[in-house]
Amino acid sequence: MEIKADEISKIIQQQIEGYDTEIDIKEVGTVTSVGDGIARVYGLDHVMFNELIEFPNDVYGLALNLEENSVGAVLLGEGHLVKEGDLVKRTHRITQVPSGPDLIGRVVNPLGIPLDGKGPIKTDTHMVVERLAPGVVERMPVKEPLQTGIKAIDAMIPIGRGQRELIIGDRQTGKTAIAIDTIINQKGKDVVCIYVAIGQKNSTVAYIIKILEDYGAMDYSIVVTASASDPSPLQYLAPYSGCAMGEYFRDNGQHSLLIYDDLSKHAAAYREIALLLRRPPGREAYPGDVFYLHSRLLERAAKYNDKNGGGSLTALPIIETQAGDVSGYIPTNVISITDGQIYLEPELFNAGIRPAINVGISVSRVGGNAQIKAMKQVAGQLRLDLAQYRELVTFAQFGTELDKASQAQLNRGERLTEVLKQGQYVPLSVEKQILVIYAGNRGFLDDFEIDQIENYEKSLYEYFEREHPDLLKEIAEKKEISPELDETINKIMTTFNQEFKGENE
Ligand code: ATP
Ligand code: MG
Repeated sequence: MEIKADEISKIIQQQIEGYDTEIDIKEVGTVTSVGDGIARVYGLDHVMFNELIEFPNDVYGLALNLEENSVGAVLLGEGHLVKEGDLVKRTHRITQVPSGPDLIGRVVNPLGIPLDGKGPIKTDTHMVVERLAPGVVERMPVKEPLQTGIKAIDAMIPIGRGQRELIIGDRQTGKTAIAIDTIINQKGKDVVCIYVAIGQKNSTVAYIIKILEDYGAMDYSIVVTASASDPSPLQYLAPYSGCAMGEYFRDNGQHSLLIYDDLSKHAAAYREIALLLRRPPGREAYPGDVFYLHSRLLERAAKYNDKNGGGSLTALPIIETQAGDVSGYIPTNVISITDGQIYLEPELFNAGIRPAINVGISVSRVGGNAQIKAMKQVAGQLRLDLAQYRELVTFAQFGTELDKASQAQLNRGERLTEVLKQGQYVPLSVEKQILVIYAGNRGFLDDFEIDQIENYEKSLYEYFEREHPDLLKEIAEKKEISPELDETINKIMTTFNQEFKGENE
């Protein structure tokens, strides 16, 4: 039998056509090189940015660099199992995490895999990790307070639901402490708290989880953690995952609070990935889009208007500075993205003024609208008084003779500073905060020595709780101090002062 040339070419042509449908180069690819947690893949023509791709041995990757002839992917998990020549498949899934109420009380990694040994998470709800922030029309201005329970913050740097407030300071200045106290204070306030630990030691995270459990805060919290020993892609993903979990509540008309501890380490993880993916380094070797890295994350904090359910997502990112330098690249970026910052100083911390907040340069640009009126009434002057006090302190250092008025101002300032000190894990209700600031402002503390103030504060709360619980309730409910109420408080405090003086002499 003779075979004609044109028949052969026909068969070959058919085979080539058949070959094309058998292995679809658009859906699969081959690893051409792998190393440092990065795989280059040939093929995968239709892969989407941020899509999960599947390697052999249950290793997943994240498609981050879509180039003309190849795809650059970061490996999540055990990258050493991936070899050159491995087959890679698309999953058609943009990275998602499980979300919903079933996650509350759990500790998970950025892919939503439980780390607490409490069994699998039973939920059908998934949220895409990277989502667009709500637009202007769907939002409303921040107006509901998010009480931190920390006197200095609630009085002078108030935070509202839906706001983004940066906590910034050197290492070991009490940044995490503020975040944890804020979580503890949300008990019974219908706010789901999500603590995202990025690049921290596992032991530190374990300690934080224990504290949250001890104070009953895990009942309404989720912990997302990518520790320092996890691959950098996981650390990169962590805040977006946490945010997606929070968005579930925001979108269902509930309230959530997100802590990103901290974004300096997040930026460093992203820099590592970007350099390995051979993206061009820019300032401080960060890639050009490092601003977008944090802006798209923090923009997702929002307060929806009533038409959209009225839910909110409040973000408290944390940034660590080096030797108090807020003009670094990453600090300035995040300062400009957020609605204000709480600045912590090692000098204050070491002088025993804790929380070590520098009131002069800490601000909350939108939270003022969210502060309750009663607090505004008593604390309105506080910031200015403290600023004047600090000026005077500098002045008095030179041994200058002070006139009577200045001396009085100095005394008042010392007492106010003392009143604003607060230990860890003892968040205060807003009505108690109002009481003690009222006492400071109206000169009820002026007769006492500095070392008596701590005791005074404690006794004051006890006295009001014992003798006038209705009054505390009235402040909390009316949220305003009417002239009559003012007079009542004044009267009661005068009585209390006499008693306290009698007891402590
Ligand atoms: P790092 O840079 O290591 O993350 P940080 O800035 O988050 O540190 P914390 O870990 O919150 O700081 O606090 C540092 C230390 O100071 C801790 O031992 C903590 O217990 C203590 N501390 C923080 N706030 C207070 C406070 N208000 N009163 C007393 N001690 C405090
Ligand atoms: Mg910390």
